[in-house]
Amino acid sequence: MSMGAEFDCLFCKIIQGKVPSAKVYEDEDVFAFLDINPVNPGHTLVVSKKHFINIFDVPEEELKKLIVVVKRLSRSIKEALGADGINIEMNNEKGAGQLINHIHFHIIPRFEGDGLRHWPGKEYQEGEKEEIAQKIREKLEE
Ligand code: 5GP
Ligand code: ZN
Repeated sequence: MSMGAEFDCLFCKIIQGKVPSAKVYEDEDVFAFLDINPVNPGHTLVVSKKHFINIFDVPEEELKKLIVVVKRLSRSIKEALGADGINIEMNNEKGAGQLINHIHFHIIPRFEGDGLRHWPGKEYQEGEKEEIAQKIREKLEE
């Protein structure tokens, strides 16, 4: 949690009711509301009430509370919108497209033929996969 950032944070203001939103869920720790520019209608943002920036600074206990609500809302969004499926997405840091520096999950209802495409897949060079997997395992042990 970065000290002071919450005072100028749009999502903190939404949680506090200082900026209006279409709320879909609230408990002691978690708040959820409709994204103002939905990928599809029903696109929901699930945020922690405390100001954390993203996956890198959120404590595991707070993250658990968020993901449990994401699961519950996924079912209700799917049924309410009659969706054919749900994407759960999270952008972490600017390089990954994070625009609002307050941790949030996107829940996006999907419909057959809605025109969205899966991200394109690259191919590994010979031996590259093993090398990268090894590097990641080493970082986990640090
Ligand atoms: P990200 O940070 O993951 O890239 O996306 C931030 C999301 O917040 C965007 O999908 C954007 O449409 C949404 N957003 C930005 N400003 C507002 C706002 O004032 N109200 C609501 N409800 N959503 C917002
Ligand atoms: Zn905030």
